[in-house]
Amino acid sequence: MKTILVTGGMGFIGSHICVSLLEQGHQVIIVDNLCNSNKEVLNRINQITGKAPIFYSVDLLNEEALSAVFKRHNMDAVIHLAALKAVGKSSQIPLSYYHNNVSGSLVLLKVMEKYEVFNLVFSSSATVYGAKNPIPYVEHFPLSATNPYGRTKVMIEDILQDIFHADSRWNISLLRYFNPIGAHPSGLIGEDPKGIPNNLMPFITQVAVGQRDRLSIFGGDYPTPDGTGVRDYIHVVDLALGHLKALEKLMASSVKSISAYNLGAGKGYSVLNVVSAFEKASGKEIKYSITSRREGDLAEFFADVTKANNELGWQVSRSLDEMCEDAWNWQRKNPEGYS
Ligand code: NAD
Ligand code: UDP
Repeated sequence: MKTILVTGGMGFIGSHICVSLLEQGHQVIIVDNLCNSNKEVLNRINQITGKAPIFYSVDLLNEEALSAVFKRHNMDAVIHLAALKAVGKSSQIPLSYYHNNVSGSLVLLKVMEKYEVFNLVFSSSATVYGAKNPIPYVEHFPLSATNPYGRTKVMIEDILQDIFHADSRWNISLLRYFNPIGAHPSGLIGEDPKGIPNNLMPFITQVAVGQRDRLSIFGGDYPTPDGTGVRDYIHVVDLALGHLKALEKLMASSVKSISAYNLGAGKGYSVLNVVSAFEKASGKEIKYSITSRREGDLAEFFADVTKANNELGWQVSRSLDEMCEDAWNWQRKNPEGYS
């Protein structure tokens, strides 16, 4: 049994990771300031696993409070998810994004160094591949970003490269997520965005429960098979299991390293593919209109997942149909999310 700190563990992806960690017998410590999550998540995790994570309502920017958590628990590793993640908002309030995501990571790294915790799994994103790389994306491609949110991820990856090269006690896994959707099959935890969803799947599920009138499909004239944008969707449970594999590798290897891994399904689906898979899974009609393109969107991207397959021994096992079934199961059982 290991003791794992999960920053942002109350959020969409973090809650699924906590379930997987607890199911594998690890002790889980969550640090989250609840700025985009709900305390009810703790009860739900307990209902699924029969175990409770230890929760601290702490902001990563609060060095003193974070240090107190490290002082109390002997961590074996940290999974660092805590971040603000809305691409559009990041262009409106870039300072808040840089402060929260970059300064928050710096505080965390400083405290980790002080308490000599050097195993780190970092939540990065496919957005670090920028707008110019060919598809599929491979880990060695040059990194860039087209918005402040993406730049925080590129900056943090750069910072992590620098600290690894300065001090080889660090042992770091950079996980670049593609498009996580779906929910735990119990329907007890899932994605609960505040306000109007920015992302495709929560928008679709809210149309299905009647909270939104219709989906706007952002662009029908892309150079893709049906003209709508193509993305690499990954079931959030498969994504969570990827973290366990990355942790196992970090903790088993005697040679310290920093490595990036794409976590995706390795294939693309269009917006219309997702809409029809969801209609099949839910039996609900999803009304939509094709509108203009969303600024900054790319036509198509998906992952090359060879490296994660070979080095982590990880691959996805859940289909787009299961992603839609589980997303619908969550939304249908929790039409208002956790509140
Ligand atoms: P989320 O908003 O559901 O979870 C993030 C959690 O971090 C929230 O519970 C929030 O309250 C917490 N948090 C934010 N700032 C904090 C701070 N300063 N101190 C303490 N807690 C703080 O988001 P998610 O979808 O679960 O994403 C988790 C991570 O994965 C993020 O780093 C995100 O950038 C990354 N990611 C997400 C996606 C996606 O599509 N969801 C894709 C690629 C990468
Ligand atoms: N999308 C859409 N309508 C929405 C939200 C998203 O048509 O209300 C499209 C978007 O243009 C992209 C795909 O769905 O082609 C996935 O978008 P999302 O925001 O979920 O992820 P990202 O853009 O980060 O890949």
